Amino acid sequence: MRKLILVKYAPEIFLKGLNRGKFERKLKENIKKKLAGLDFEIIEDQNRWFIKCDDLEEASKRAKNVFGVMEICIVTQVERDLDAIKALALEKVKESGASTFKVETNRADKLFPFNSMETSRGVGGYILNKLEHISVDIHNPECRLKVEIREKNAYVYTNKDKIKGAGGLPYGMNGSTMLMLSGGIDSPVAGYLMARRGVELNCVYYHSHPYTSERAKDKVKDLAKILAQYTEKVNLYVVPFTDIQMSIIEKCREDELTIIMRRFMMRVACKLSEIKGIQSVSSGESIGQVASQTMEGLIVSTDVADRPVFRPLVAMDKEDIIEIANNIGTFETSILPYEDCCTIFVPKHPKTKPRVDAIRKSESVLDIDSLVDKAIENLEKYTF
Ligand code: ATP
Ligand code: MG
Repeated sequence: MRKLILVKYAPEIFLKGLNRGKFERKLKENIKKKLAGLDFEIIEDQNRWFIKCDDLEEASKRAKNVFGVMEICIVTQVERDLDAIKALALEKVKESGASTFKVETNRADKLFPFNSMETSRGVGGYILNKLEHISVDIHNPECRLKVEIREKNAYVYTNKDKIKGAGGLPYGMNGSTMLMLSGGIDSPVAGYLMARRGVELNCVYYHSHPYTSERAKDKVKDLAKILAQYTEKVNLYVVPFTDIQMSIIEKCREDELTIIMRRFMMRVACKLSEIKGIQSVSSGESIGQVASQTMEGLIVSTDVADRPVFRPLVAMDKEDIIEIANNIGTFETSILPYEDCCTIFVPKHPKTKPRVDAIRKSESVLDIDSLVDKAIENLEKYTF
């Protein structure tokens, strides 16, 4: 008898039809990459994956965070023999300390001489006989004992052995995006959610030296590093933004500064994506959160985009975003109090309902293309 990690992947992967094999291969490859450095093996038994590893705790911690993994279970492997299964099941239920239980059997291998019902009844009866203060509750048992019978072996586990996985789809299966990553709470969460759907992540940060400090930049690097733990690697492009902001301040109306600045952010992100062969742009905007994130604001900033712009947080409340930030480990870094380029030149009364034609006209006094090109020429690249 030995313990293994059963990996259950997202049901969405089952629905991929002819592409299912591709998704499965990618997921397995990604799991192997995450387990690199550990002494492990992935064993297959009738379409189920089991990880064998001496350090089960570390392997579980890593495997559950792989996108596409819905759940992992620490199972005990046992020979395909009803008496052996009964003995192990008794131990598991005893160990759980539960006063009610239920046995559920999944007989994947139909050659096993007892069907699912017979196996569950046999195991359940045995436990009832051996343990005094315990009863069966089929609707709401404290201990839900699972028996899986497959071609090579049987596997036993309870609800206590289950750990929720990250969900989503295998990283790298759904194209690429350029995430506008600020030091705030929202954009790292937006990046995580895109990556969780299998989208390859690249990040761009607009740095307004000397108005924003090295510490503000380091904070964004730290956020990119945290995101890289969930992905494979993350490229972070730090683009100098001061010249653009200074030109806007010098030549445009005060109440339009923010929206024009946001259009420049969008232009740089799109241009950089084009150069690097990245298909889309993503941001941490949420409808109505601040003055620049009104419907009109989002429309006016999207106006300059030449590729799809994804805003995965658009319909989320701040509380829900914070909850995810806490779960993925970015919150503590995000709330460090360093200034952001958006907060240093804030108009007193920013336009909340900008109009595309008016803004296009206002910014026509700027040499837009050369400002964008110059910013990109001077970028710094980091890879985590
Ligand atoms: P966040 O918490 O992500 O900073 P926010 O609520 O502070 O978001 P804004 O500052 O208005 O909102 O920014 C909206 C979005 O614009 C951010 O989520 C991010 O995608 C992008 N953004 C803002 N500032 C920067 C920056 N300095 N570099 C890169 N992207 C930025
Ligand atoms: Mg911000």
